[in-house]
Amino acid sequence: MPSKAREVKRSSQKYWDEKFETMPVAELEKFQLRKLKETVEWAYARVPFYRRKLDESGIAPKNIKTLEDIAKLPFTVKNDLRDNYPFGLCAVPLTEVVRVHASSGTTGKPITGPYTAEDLDQWTECMARNLWSAGVRPDDIAQNAYGHGLFTGGLGFHQGLTRLGCVVVPTSSGLTERQITLLKDFGTTALFCTPSYALTIAERAAELKVDIRKLPLRVGVFGAEPWSTAMRQEIEERMGIKAHEAYGLTEIGGPGVGFDCEAQDGIHLNEDHFLAEIVDPQTLEPLPLGEKGELVFTSIQRRAMPMLRYRTKDITRLRREKCRCGRTFVKMDKIFGRSDDMLIISGVNVFPSQVESLLLEIPEVEPQYRLVVRKKGYLDQLIVQVEGKREIYDAGPEKRLEVAAKVMAHIKGNMGIGVEVEIVEAKFINRSEGKALRVVDERPKQLR
Ligand code: ADP
Ligand code: ZN
Repeated sequence: MPSKAREVKRSSQKYWDEKFETMPVAELEKFQLRKLKETVEWAYARVPFYRRKLDESGIAPKNIKTLEDIAKLPFTVKNDLRDNYPFGLCAVPLTEVVRVHASSGTTGKPITGPYTAEDLDQWTECMARNLWSAGVRPDDIAQNAYGHGLFTGGLGFHQGLTRLGCVVVPTSSGLTERQITLLKDFGTTALFCTPSYALTIAERAAELKVDIRKLPLRVGVFGAEPWSTAMRQEIEERMGIKAHEAYGLTEIGGPGVGFDCEAQDGIHLNEDHFLAEIVDPQTLEPLPLGEKGELVFTSIQRRAMPMLRYRTKDITRLRREKCRCGRTFVKMDKIFGRSDDMLIISGVNVFPSQVESLLLEIPEVEPQYRLVVRKKGYLDQLIVQVEGKREIYDAGPEKRLEVAAKVMAHIKGNMGIGVEVEIVEAKFINRSEGKALRVVDERPKQLR
């Protein structure tokens, strides 16, 4: 890790890496094409899995002549990583690997993410851009409450914050009261964790009669799970901070893939490292800019585990527009959700974050909820369980029914779906310390 003195930048500097972050698109595309070609060659020559897949599709690295040719490459999916667990997709000997992270996923074997020293350095740079864009500066006291360990969040942020030269406080997630004590005692100015954990911290602080808005805390960078704009505003208000965003996934190197800027209107992708496409999740055909579909990434600088056309299952759309921050990197909308979490209720696609935004518009309930899916006869039934504000819940069953009806009508009016709503008591929903569990599927497995 470079010394603090060497890496400290001037706090007034607008970008971490102006050259790339503001590169004219035509120039960026030339750079991307060069790196894409290198990556395809690298993967083909060194990873039997890619060689076989490319051979099967009749594509050779030399067939990649333009950026559009990326669509000729076969996709990679999570199961490919599982099948090649732990190091089958590694393009370098293990002697060149200096770190391995892993994602638990929710089912089956974990997937691994190996890094060379160069990969780690690039990851750190991507994180530094993310943090700088959020206004984090070397004089910040940075409390990093992402889980430290195999999860890429903790160490990814740690490296970026260290490169900026912040005072890093590696609390990891959990032990919420201690988080609050340190926020106070250390005068933490910047907080890093999942949005759902930020909410857990804010709630616990309120219970302990600590007003976070009066503490020095001024900014947070939250990510690793879908959250609505309404949730962002809720956190900003409860903590008296600016809440920024980080996006990433283990398969292509962890957080630092995308980040928002002062405009808080979409997530810039680090396009000199990752090529993004949107495809139709059914037909897998590439979709034009602006259309909603599944996000697909190709890494173009990673050495230990290059990724060709990885299907993220994240649903969003891309926009190429002039951003007020001056960055030229393409922007993606906030992730609507993962296709795994998408529910189809009466023929309508429903993502938890849509329901979340609507719940946040109802003052009688807390932003603590979960969606339960059950079978009622042949039909799927969605039950929204949301905590009532304490005084509402305590006012008795009649009041609860009245609020439930209000929530139901609000969801029906905005999404056109009929749901059942249960106003549940405080703390009924498990508090998150990492990624919140929003969907509980109680349908028999064979009927999902
Ligand atoms: P796991 O698959 O075990 O959850 P990861 O930590 O690699 O492991 O998860 C990456 C996923 O987390 C992304 O594909 C996406 O679904 C979600 N994610 C990460 N950052 C964000 C974000 N800012 N907004 C929405 N979803 C996010
Ligand atoms: Zn911007």
